[in-house]
Amino acid sequence: MIYVVGDGIAGLSAAISLRESGREVTVITKELRGGSSYISKGGVAAATSSDDTPQLHAQDTIMVGDGLCDEEAVRYFTSEGPAVIEELTRWGFEFDGDLRLEGGHSRRRVHHKADETGRALTEFLLRRALSLGINIVEDELLALYVKDSEVRGLITRDRGSISNVDYVVLATGGYAYLWQYTSNPPTNTGDGIAIAFRAGAVVSDVEFIQFHPTITTLGDETMLLTETLRGEGAKIINEQGERFAFKYHERGELAPRDVLSRAIYMELMSGHRVYMDLSGIDDFEGKFPGVNDFLRRHGLSKADRVPIYPGAHFTIGGVRVNVRSETSIRRLYAIGEVADTGLHGANRLASNSLLEGLVMGLNLPRYLDEPWEGPRLDDGIMVQVGLRDEGPSLSIDEIRRINWEYLGILRSEAGLRKAVEIYGSVNTAQWTRESNAALVSYLASYAALLRTESRGVHYRVDYPGKDDNWRRRIYFRVIK
Ligand code: FAD
Repeated sequence: MIYVVGDGIAGLSAAISLRESGREVTVITKELRGGSSYISKGGVAAATSSDDTPQLHAQDTIMVGDGLCDEEAVRYFTSEGPAVIEELTRWGFEFDGDLRLEGGHSRRRVHHKADETGRALTEFLLRRALSLGINIVEDELLALYVKDSEVRGLITRDRGSISNVDYVVLATGGYAYLWQYTSNPPTNTGDGIAIAFRAGAVVSDVEFIQFHPTITTLGDETMLLTETLRGEGAKIINEQGERFAFKYHERGELAPRDVLSRAIYMELMSGHRVYMDLSGIDDFEGKFPGVNDFLRRHGLSKADRVPIYPGAHFTIGGVRVNVRSETSIRRLYAIGEVADTGLHGANRLASNSLLEGLVMGLNLPRYLDEPWEGPRLDDGIMVQVGLRDEGPSLSIDEIRRINWEYLGILRSEAGLRKAVEIYGSVNTAQWTRESNAALVSYLASYAALLRTESRGVHYRVDYPGKDDNWRRRIYFRVIK
């Protein structure tokens, strides 16, 4: 039996393709429809138009990745993109006819379903998985049982110990919920990374957290205001109506995500209020039905200013894998946001993460019987850290506040030292969400402290420039 952990786009596409290749699969998920996939917006990047090529897509990915992309991974994912779109279409999923342009892409290549791509795609994959008789159960992975560097079993909250597994596929998503301000759902607390790390898997790139500039909360409902709104004419203003983003970048609202996140953060920190003005978008209701419904639910329309803030959005790092999704533990695979292939480098090109998750999921069956290689670890430094099985534990809310304050959009040595000190004194060995969150936050702050430069989404106010000595990854491995 193969256990797939997580029911996002990566987990479901893997489960379906494994089942179709004749294997027995069970999907375990903490919360059905709980992850980022279900609320993802813009779409899936793939070079399918006549004026586009995978090589151009690769160039754009490498440009945005700011010197840290693994070029083998970039070539692999960009060239597999068209086949993924074709396969989903063959299964009966219908993308809208037009391709969208997003920041950092030199061509229109974002495949979408209005502005609700994730929900449409996840529901479609769920239906297909259920129609194939795949067992999908709500349960929570707590730990992996590994012997002789090979995964032998898993331990879950409800089922206890499960042995005799053929393979375990982690598809547990990222950890961007661990910041006070975030676009992510509460499932995303880094469980898979912490669990794999404790079991001996190598983790990498965890200091790179992508912040999204335009998130809003109305009432109790949080929504990401997709980048394409700005592409279609939305403006960012302060309470005086000033388009302040031009003070920070010549492209104003269309500046790269990381620059705009910092601009909005600094504007808010200096006491201003920040809004999105949607009034200049033509055919707003037709192009953005999801945003329009959201505004209407809260008694607003496109004529009103919508308050916005930046928040943690996507975690680039994770369990280190090669393009076959092999981790450093045999028979343990990691796919989607929990994994780190090096595709994104130090900054993710918009709409490349759904692509990555789908490619990894759909292609997994072809690699299971291949001789095991594991990920290459020769392009960075390896840091060994121990687990701490004593000390207090922090609540998820405390961790979210600490990360926002010390491991946020603007970082400094003093703040990062404080974070490392706090996380270094709490219990990181327990099989709980809190302990998982503290462990992942410890590794992320440690790496951010070590990386004395600013690159991609990692911004150090005390080292604002790039340093080529740091054109390498930071890997972590547990001391057993
Ligand atoms: P997820 O979809 O996050 O699923 C993880 C699953 O793991 C969840 O089902 C959860 O229940 C389960 N899980 C977690 N821990 C455990 C555990 N211990 N035991 C059992 N189950 C567990 N990317 C794009 O490419 N294009 C976009 O347009 C886009 N828009 C986005 C908009 C928003 C608002 C957000 C938040 C993200 C967006 N992203 C987008 C990023 C993208 O959605 C994610 O990277 C991607 O969906 C991750 O998919 P996944 O399958 O790896 O994980």
